[in-house]
Amino acid sequence: MTAPIPFSSEILRFLQRHHYERVIPRAALIDMDGTLYDSMKNHTAAWHRMMTEAGVNCTRDEFYLYEGMTGASTINRLFLRAFGREADSEEKQRLYHLKTEYFKELPKVAPMPGAHEMLEILKETGIKRVLVTGSGQASVIDRISTDFPGMFDHDKRVTSNDVTHGKPHPEPFIRAMQLARVSPSQSIVIENAPLGVEAGDRSGAFTIGVTTGPIPKETMEEAGAAIVFGSMPEFARLLPTLLLSLLTVTRS
Ligand code: MG
Repeated sequence: MTAPIPFSSEILRFLQRHHYERVIPRAALIDMDGTLYDSMKNHTAAWHRMMTEAGVNCTRDEFYLYEGMTGASTINRLFLRAFGREADSEEKQRLYHLKTEYFKELPKVAPMPGAHEMLEILKETGIKRVLVTGSGQASVIDRISTDFPGMFDHDKRVTSNDVTHGKPHPEPFIRAMQLARVSPSQSIVIENAPLGVEAGDRSGAFTIGVTTGPIPKETMEEAGAAIVFGSMPEFARLLPTLLLSLLTVTRS
């Protein structure tokens, strides 16, 4: 009797749902905040401080659910709830600027444990890496080349400045596939947030959820994650096995 292929049930379920014969990973489309950087505690604190001062009743934890949306979309969503109208463009610009200022006042964020290991494995395996972030915050995006040298080419980055629609719309990941010249079934998405997972799945990529904050595994699965890992170090440890399984499992 041969041993079952690891993750084969998750891979088969994904292939059936997307009507693919197989996934051949050639590019990894990788989220930044909460995936490459342990930055979500600071982001949620900055959002909560800014929106509370703007007169919006909100909790810090709810901002984990909005992760991945552009700043403007998050502001609109809370304005609609609190004031029954969207924010105008001056308000959106001013408030998002204020949020980035509050973020900068907080201690510098560290790379997520396991992120280096994950990127090394992808590079060694010959899988292209594309950064896909809903953020427009230069203070973090600019650190990518220093913290992860040689991992992301300058022309392989999609930020909030490059898209019309942010996550959960699939546009950021579709843009990333175009940059890497790959098709959806040649792409894997690595995400920590439900809206990012939803965008990844809608783009047609094999979307891997990694829980690095308070969001439960079930929420990631409901959002469309093909598979969910409990931490970045765990994901990095199992990534070689997952890549091998992806090349092995086919729908016939
Ligand atoms: Mg994220």
